Amino acid sequence: MPRVAVIPEPGVPVEIREVAEPRLEENSAVLDVEFSEVCGTDVYLQQGRLQGVPYPLVPGHVSVGRLSKIRGRLFDVEGREFREGERVTFLDVHRTCHACWYCLVARATTRCPQRKVYGITYGLDDGLCGGWADQIYLKPGTRCIRLDAQPETFMAGGCALPTALHAVERGDVAIGDTVLVLGSGPVGINAIMLSLMRGALRVFCVGAPDHRLAVAAEAGACEVLNFENHNDDERLEWIRARTNGRGADVTIEATGVPAAVRQAMRFTRDAGRVVVVGQYTDHGETSFNPHLDLNQKHLDVRGCWGSDFSHFYRGVQIVSDPLKSQPWVQLQNRLKPYDLNDANAALADVSAGNIFKALISIGQIQA
Ligand SMILES: [Zn+2]
Ligand SMILES: [Zn+2]
Repeated sequence: MPRVAVIPEPGVPVEIREVAEPRLEENSAVLDVEFSEVCGTDVYLQQGRLQGVPYPLVPGHVSVGRLSKIRGRLFDVEGREFREGERVTFLDVHRTCHACWYCLVARATTRCPQRKVYGITYGLDDGLCGGWADQIYLKPGTRCIRLDAQPETFMAGGCALPTALHAVERGDVAIGDTVLVLGSGPVGINAIMLSLMRGALRVFCVGAPDHRLAVAAEAGACEVLNFENHNDDERLEWIRARTNGRGADVTIEATGVPAAVRQAMRFTRDAGRVVVVGQYTDHGETSFNPHLDLNQKHLDVRGCWGSDFSHFYRGVQIVSDPLKSQPWVQLQNRLKPYDLNDANAALADVSAGNIFKALISIGQIQA
């Protein structure tokens, strides 16, 4: 019987349960999990800070493993048929309808009301739908991608890779741009690497603590600033001093702190672009001066919600490329694997910011 790590209800520690093997519908599969991610979202899930989440819940929305059982036929986006035993990952977003107003008219599929996310808005009652488990049930219509890269290289990006890819796309980062990334967590680090890949001349990073800023520098940030010992005005001076007094062309907010949105606006040059990607859960309100911070600045401020198959697909292509994958290969040594039984310790370490990224590792850690 497969084991799953379950959050029974908000605020309660994770517990291990054994559940029945999934019964396969036509054109579905079972994935034997190798790695699943522990990210900030999982901390919020355990704390009950996301809306629309069905508990009990098996977390783990981005995972990698091997197809152990296929019923019917499954194809990838290139039309190649999947075989049992192949290593794959899959888009955690399922059931985007491509039929509603948001999908068809607004072309904003990440706002489709039908979409469900493995490990977040699919609960245990929906089946084996989270990655902190021996197995995941891949429902019909789940978008799998064959993974040729090392699974650790892909997981070094994890959910932050498609999220950050979407953010730099929203920011229209262009050749020669100066980019400022606020936040040095996984999304911020991936935003640094992808901004450079898109042609940014320089990427600055304001974050904390120092061990994460060291990762930002390794990822290619030309200079970093620890916000803990610099107030708002000092940070503004810091970026202005490096941009001929103007501010960054593009600022990507990846902090989770509401006040950082106004800072992002102030740190950006007139007629520049701000992308808000760090407010995935409701941390409350903030205020800004509509005249000084927005209108007079002729600023473009863009929200960025989730990611779609194109971001996920291109992320997998990048980490599978021998040359382009190098920043993520380097990031691998920042991963910390945890046994399924140690899921609570993994959550605690992610919540405290002790480590860069935690993984749930199934069958990889020998006792
Ligand atoms: Zn995540
Ligand atoms: Zn839709």
